[in-house]
Amino acid sequence: MSQSVLTAVDHDAAGPARPCAPPAPASVSVRLRRFPHRYDAMLAICSDLDYTTDGGVYREIARYLNTREPTAMGPGVGLEVGNSIFFDMPPAEFAYWNTDDAGREMVRTLIRSGHIDVLHSYGDLARTRADAERALAELDRHALHLPVWVDHRRAPSNFGADIMRGEGDRPGAPCYHADLTLAHGVRYVWRGRVTSVVGQQAPHSLRGVWNGRRPACSARTLAKEAAKHVLGRVGRAKYAMHRDNALLRPITLRDGAGCVEFLRSNPHWAGISRADTAAGLADVLSDPMLDRLARRGAVAVLYTHFAKKGDPRRPFDEPTCAAFRRLARRHEAGHILVTTTHRLLRYMDVRDHLTFRLTADCGRVTVHIGPVVHPVRGSCTPSLDELQGLTFLVDARAEVEVRAPSGERLDCTCTYAGGATCATIPWKPLTFPTLDRR
Ligand SMILES: [Zn+2]
Repeated sequence: MSQSVLTAVDHDAAGPARPCAPPAPASVSVRLRRFPHRYDAMLAICSDLDYTTDGGVYREIARYLNTREPTAMGPGVGLEVGNSIFFDMPPAEFAYWNTDDAGREMVRTLIRSGHIDVLHSYGDLARTRADAERALAELDRHALHLPVWVDHRRAPSNFGADIMRGEGDRPGAPCYHADLTLAHGVRYVWRGRVTSVVGQQAPHSLRGVWNGRRPACSARTLAKEAAKHVLGRVGRAKYAMHRDNALLRPITLRDGAGCVEFLRSNPHWAGISRADTAAGLADVLSDPMLDRLARRGAVAVLYTHFAKKGDPRRPFDEPTCAAFRRLARRHEAGHILVTTTHRLLRYMDVRDHLTFRLTADCGRVTVHIGPVVHPVRGSCTPSLDELQGLTFLVDARAEVEVRAPSGERLDCTCTYAGGATCATIPWKPLTFPTLDRR
């Protein structure tokens, strides 16, 4: 990395830090801000690609969400939203082995850029370990990694035993593959758990789901969610994540391997499975819901299917496009950071397990980042990518620098408010690739 520079910007009315007002080391403390500087919440839209008919639809969805180019649905909204991929599916569904060479090239390009980050099981037709090996060999051949796993319907390769009836992590099963898939680099898995609660990593609350015009339906949704919470509290393992309203938790698969499970949400008054479509997002991404997410300082990985029940020529209708524009405005205004599933999960995971210490010397405070001490992976050194967005709040007005575990001084931006300094390692948006339009 090139010579790093610490820049001080956005000083408040009292002016910049005075360099020779050394804070006494014992009196200075530092903590990590919950989200990257300015943002009040984080959100990822985590779509399963079921019902996607072909690569053209898949490409238009990606372009609409991630660029500002003209698309079949009008100008793109310029967000950062990923997608998922299958390998072995029946011919009518878009999947890696079903599409043509151009389609496969597009998928590889989007995996490389980070815009495909989820393996949505190996697909309905992947029934053996050899099917998984074939898919992983293809990814390896192109030096590609998919870091997130999401169970699909009743696919044999699923990990979830209770909800998703999979056997992918049961040694001896024909499609046992967990050892290979985790070795490939999958770190986060979804095993069918969903919630209606607006925002995770915040106290459990049922507010924000009720729709006064649809009382019976709303009451049913709330009762279901309340039941999950109560069952979690009385010790039912299936609902442990609902008890804590946790986004992430360490788990042990049936073969003994450790990984991290995540919870998806869809806070629609009619219930999770009634609104798991792009049309459902028009209601879910409402101003009150987004306000509530930000007010709670919470994080959401939204459960949906972009191509389910929509018109393949125009997967998002106008109300859904309006919802994406609402979300884009909040992202641009610095309220809700919208990113891919993997980047969101990784940020929260690293943030929650990062170690660091502070030294102070002649007015300069240095944050020394240490290892990530993780319940599954043990002690490991974070990469520079993994440090993006981390924001240290120092309770002194000082020149602050941040050093990586290697000792390297990191680029960071400092802002001052009152007697505190906020030092942020910049969050860099992904670069959307140019895609062949054939
Ligand atoms: Zn699916």
